[in-house]
Amino acid sequence: MYINGNWAAAADNASFEVLNPADGSVITQVPDGDGAAARAAIDAAAEAFPAWRQTTAYQRAEFLMRAHALMLERQEALARVLTEEQGKPLRAAMTEVRYAADFLAWFAEEAKRVYGEVIPSARADQRFIVLHQPVGVVAAITPWNYPISMITRKLGPALAAGCTVVLKPAEATPLTAIETFKLFEDAGLPPGVVNLVTAGDPRPIGDEFVTNPKVRKLTFTGSTAVGKMLAGRAAANMKRVSCELGGHAPFIVLADADPEHAAKGLQLVKFLNTGQACISPNRIYVHRGVLDGFLDTLTGRVARMRAGSGLEDGVTIGPLVNQAAVDKVDNQVRDAVGHGAEVLCGGGPLTEGDLDKGFFYAPTVLNGVSQEMLIYREETFGPVAAVVPFEDEAEVLAMANDTHYGLAAYIYSQNLSKAMRLFEGLEFGIVGINDINPASAAAPFGGMKDSGIGREGSREGIHEYLETKVGGFSI
Ligand code: ADP
Repeated sequence: MYINGNWAAAADNASFEVLNPADGSVITQVPDGDGAAARAAIDAAAEAFPAWRQTTAYQRAEFLMRAHALMLERQEALARVLTEEQGKPLRAAMTEVRYAADFLAWFAEEAKRVYGEVIPSARADQRFIVLHQPVGVVAAITPWNYPISMITRKLGPALAAGCTVVLKPAEATPLTAIETFKLFEDAGLPPGVVNLVTAGDPRPIGDEFVTNPKVRKLTFTGSTAVGKMLAGRAAANMKRVSCELGGHAPFIVLADADPEHAAKGLQLVKFLNTGQACISPNRIYVHRGVLDGFLDTLTGRVARMRAGSGLEDGVTIGPLVNQAAVDKVDNQVRDAVGHGAEVLCGGGPLTEGDLDKGFFYAPTVLNGVSQEMLIYREETFGPVAAVVPFEDEAEVLAMANDTHYGLAAYIYSQNLSKAMRLFEGLEFGIVGINDINPASAAAPFGGMKDSGIGREGSREGIHEYLETKVGGFSI
């Protein structure tokens, strides 16, 4: 753990194991921090805050740009650690590290653009001046599916705003967090500005985060259930909250779409990170007029994917995070088949050769998915493309919006008017239009409904870490 500028063990040297999901082997042990460790880290962050907030935006930007340069220098080493503990193919891990670095550079720039306002008053003798100031100590909780970019997407804007931070990474992927903090240390961040607490059991850390009066803001990425619970408790203590939670993305292919282009896009975004992404398409609505072409291209491409350790050349899809994830995916597939879905490829866990040591599931295409199936409602977080054929374009918007989630959605159409109407009508925070990658450090990322509160990245991202203060001056 990294607390007040020192690398620290847990009380009694307690530790927990980090596993490689590709073969179930133990990579190493890391400190198993408790509530007291979280408290010490929060104290350090609170002590470092007055000096850090006094630095200029230009000084904070310099720290962030140094961290950015180090992250790019260490891109491959970071990616290897990430692949080993998380499973995604090395190329995808390299891409994630670059995406993570983007947030450091973007918010280094945004630090300098935290503009205030002068507001005209109705009174001739009065002036209003608005300032934006850092909220204070930030507690951050990140997930295992994007172990490095979720850190910088939170810490980049928090540090740029002048906040100090305590991070608790997911128990499955603490090693990438540790490497990232070594890099912050090497970038010369003063002691206490960033603190890292690793833990095998997240609950005592979460308890401290939502109850400690020194914490002014909680930023969380993870499941909707845990996010709602933590946000509720943080709200009871009037802490600011940002949450980026689950999703159930519709992917809509209209009759006028190019079915091959849409299928290629779907294959890329659906199987990214073995389907373990909150923006992963979970209901793929394909107009019957283009269904055959779509399924032919999709099935051909999916059948050619190669599963294995992400460190092996030629592997295009890695393992799931653990056995529970494999079981959940398999349960959804069996349920769908039981209700009449057709398996076009895949359809079960992969166990040949060495694969049975890891947590592998065959990349799967299901056709004929319908409303009564679990997969139509529950987030899958696995490599299953669930295709829902449809006929009436007038109904597809309501079908797509029929979920309590509201994170990402995708539209394929060559008709600008239809695409624009869907774009405007979809109750989702992120919409790809003939595009499968609507995420960038420059663009706002976040969800509506049960998918969360707040936005990360973009101009908006830094405001999640700023308070607004108005001064009314009588002159
Ligand atoms: P997932 O299902 O994707 O693993 P979780 O919401 O369980 O999602 O995990 C996301 C993050 O939330 C992880 O860092 C995890 O340790 C943390 N987490 C889970 N439960 C709690 C809790 N009760 N208190 C604090 N953090 C938690």
